[in-house]
Amino acid sequence: MRPEEILVPTPSGVCCKRGGFHIDPTRPVERALITHAHSDHARAGHGAVLATQETLDLMRLRYGENFAGSIQPARYGAGVSLGGAKVTFHPAGHVLGSAQIAVEANGLRVVASGDYKNVPDPTCAPFELVPCDVFITEATFALPVFRHGDADGEIAKLLHSVALFPERAHLVGAYSLGKAQRVIALLRKAGYEAPVYLHGAMESITRYYAGRGIALGELRAVRGAGKAELAGAITLCPPSALNEIWARRFPDPVTAFASGWMRIRARARQNGVALPLVISDHADWDGLTATITDTGAAEIWVTHGQEDALVHWCATRGLKARPLDIVGYGEEHDAAVSPGPAAGVGEAEV
Ligand SMILES: [Zn+2]
Ligand SMILES: [Zn+2]
Repeated sequence: MRPEEILVPTPSGVCCKRGGFHIDPTRPVERALITHAHSDHARAGHGAVLATQETLDLMRLRYGENFAGSIQPARYGAGVSLGGAKVTFHPAGHVLGSAQIAVEANGLRVVASGDYKNVPDPTCAPFELVPCDVFITEATFALPVFRHGDADGEIAKLLHSVALFPERAHLVGAYSLGKAQRVIALLRKAGYEAPVYLHGAMESITRYYAGRGIALGELRAVRGAGKAELAGAITLCPPSALNEIWARRFPDPVTAFASGWMRIRARARQNGVALPLVISDHADWDGLTATITDTGAAEIWVTHGQEDALVHWCATRGLKARPLDIVGYGEEHDAAVSPGPAAGVGEAEV
């Protein structure tokens, strides 16, 4: 049996014909399996959606009650039969509720990993290695220059700056779903106990995380807080808000940005970021290549970023590899202007 008889790449996502579903389709389909709630993977308007409870909840927060015709929650590790295929969701370690989706038929297993990272994150279940025959991997940071290093060390830099400039506000750009909550959890882990202030676009998602038992400490809305209150405090906002009128309310702000792209200093300068923090929710070069090796897969399908570099690396290792040309993953949306009840769930995280 060929893997294409289980999953076949199409321009709008991978499709399982025998199971009658698509994974993370970029256009509306009858039945969608969704790896996680970032908007490049989770779109509204599908007939039936199978995803983890958290992903379904986050989609509802963003798109409203009627985001799909019908929904079915998937539990990690519990196999579900769909047509002639068995599907199982496994933790991807990317954001709350994120999953890799294993699809099996006739003893052949293909794993669509969505977005993933193989480092600890206090806000989601750890990445689970799923042995497989074909591994579909993202490639957001698939260049050797991307080595994310230690997120705790980056948080220590932020706290050092707060201690150094107690009269200034610290404004941290972070994507609204996943990154913002991880930064807060890492601050708490480092012993920071003061209230953390939130831009309006990330309030509902962050409170959802807290409601799922993730310890985020005291959270306050920026809305209604005075200048004096914001001095010496840490505020999180979508990256796009850093350069908007909104940011002018902060006293002499130090601007930070938590992203894997901050490894590239020019990016930080371009965005006027004084304090780049290399914190990513994607695997870095070492994480991608180690994971590919560890799955034992003989064939690798690459999507979502620097496909060519990773395909080339696979070839040097004797692995069969191909890029999937799916348009629509990894696009950044402007969180501060995107509409919807919880603007900001949507933007692609980096
Ligand atoms: Zn994502
Ligand atoms: Zn993505």
